[in-house]
Amino acid sequence: MRNEARSTRSQVVIVGGGIAGAWLAYRLAQRAVRTVLISDDDQKPPLSLGAAGLINQDTINSTDRTAPAVFSDISTTQDPRYRARMIERARDEFDALSRLVEYAPIGEFVYPLGPTPGIRLGAGGDVVGRVLAEFTELGGTRLRGRVTDLVMEGDTCLGVRYEHDGQPGKVLAGDVVLASGGFTGLFADGLGSDNGHLLGTFARRGGSLANLELFNWVALGDPERRCPLYPPDLEGARLLRSGEPATELMQALAAFAGDSIDLDVYTRYWIDNLDVPHTAELVSGTGRLGPVRGFSMGGMAPASESGTGPANVHATGEAEYGMSLDSLTGKPFLSFIVRGAELAETLAKRASDEPTADFDAGPAAPSADTALQPEIRRRLAAVQDNRFTTEGAHDFAQWCARERARHLADASTDTESVDVLIVAESYIRAVLARRESRGFFYRPDFRVPDPELDNQVTRCRYDAEANEVHVSLSPAGATAVV
Ligand SMILES: Cc1cc2nc3c(=O)[nH]c(=O)nc-3n(C[C@H](O)[C@H](O)[C@H](O)COP(=O)(O)OP(=O)(O)OC[C@H]3O[C@@H](n4cnc5c(N)ncnc54)[C@H](O)[C@@H]3O)c2cc1C
Repeated sequence: MRNEARSTRSQVVIVGGGIAGAWLAYRLAQRAVRTVLISDDDQKPPLSLGAAGLINQDTINSTDRTAPAVFSDISTTQDPRYRARMIERARDEFDALSRLVEYAPIGEFVYPLGPTPGIRLGAGGDVVGRVLAEFTELGGTRLRGRVTDLVMEGDTCLGVRYEHDGQPGKVLAGDVVLASGGFTGLFADGLGSDNGHLLGTFARRGGSLANLELFNWVALGDPERRCPLYPPDLEGARLLRSGEPATELMQALAAFAGDSIDLDVYTRYWIDNLDVPHTAELVSGTGRLGPVRGFSMGGMAPASESGTGPANVHATGEAEYGMSLDSLTGKPFLSFIVRGAELAETLAKRASDEPTADFDAGPAAPSADTALQPEIRRRLAAVQDNRFTTEGAHDFAQWCARERARHLADASTDTESVDVLIVAESYIRAVLARRESRGFFYRPDFRVPDPELDNQVTRCRYDAEANEVHVSLSPAGATAVV
């Protein structure tokens, strides 16, 4: 993977080399669509690499073709196209994946076979590696770089600017796909490190961000080390609540041991116990115990969904809005290969020749302000969970706008800081707009769902001229045109 040319032309450019970007790239290459996949894996390791790559068997074997409970969403904010897409394509895409990677059953899942039998964190990386190898074998191009901007001409995106080893580069393309992952890294208690700044870039270029306030909360984790705790971690462990055995938590874990255990334990135990210190005494040491944010259910709402934004910029994977589920275990990988297959079909129909319009790669983008992310995490932590107040949230939103204005006034600023501040403000404005608790979303001042907000999705847009983020609520998929 060497950047021999700093200027590349292609029919499609995909940003992100996790499972979502890799599978889309593979499916496009099979259709002979010239495709470049660019990723920044050294700085932003794909979450996919550390995953177990499990697939829930019900999602591929379901005989109920109408509404399998496996895709249920108590929040009612799911993209209405999601379920139909899964029912139509899940089996075929899994079969296609199984031709590259061998899977074996284990309990309610299938897992990618590896050097040792059984579930293994990291097996997801082997799956992605195999798919990407196939992509390059089929003639696809991989580049390494940190994408810093989408270059626009009117409503059309001409391609992306990127930086690698201090050198600027550009990829000109007819269609751009953001497969850049979630944004749980924005939070002190989130898994992964990615702050989702490309969501902000997308908003700065006219796109809308939907449902940012909804995350999946993993029932047991270490919020300080930002990791989940799985059954093997908990062998021989003592779970404590205020120094005493966490009996109620153990009872909740036993009572709700079904598919939606994360949601049940979060809503029926953690919400009432967020202020109480919990500790896990593990064989490997003692740490804080709590729920951890594990999956970003919101993200970019491409123009095909929202009716606004650049028409030739698309999204897939955790970066995309739409996959709200009561139970996430064993579903993201399959959902993203299904979405990749669908998007490949759409893009193959659209794909024309490589673009002729050119743009300047510009100077190498400065590196991101390293102090900003910890500061955002610290400030957001002060208005999370039971600490939430509307005043605190408004103060945070105003701080984001002021910080952005300061960065925008500085000619040498990095766009990543501006963009991450757009995401952070969009998130808190979405929280402010949803005056209720619903599914995994919790507000201490509105502890029950508001029926008027059934099916309503928050949508944030950035007004670049005024440097303001605006939020509205509208029905899920209301403007879908695909
Ligand atoms: C511990 C753990 C275990 C899991 N196990 C499973 C499982 O068993 N089964 C399952 O289905 N799901 C599992 N998941 C969830 C699943 O791993 C994620 O939802 C999924 O990997 C997200 O894939 P993605 O391709 O959207 O994003 P990612 O894998 O995060 O990839 C994002 C890509 O975007 C790139 N990128 C980001 N910003 C830029 C930029 N500015 N420029 C260039 N590149 C950029 C990154 O470098 C990376 O290549 C697990 C998650 C965790 C945390």
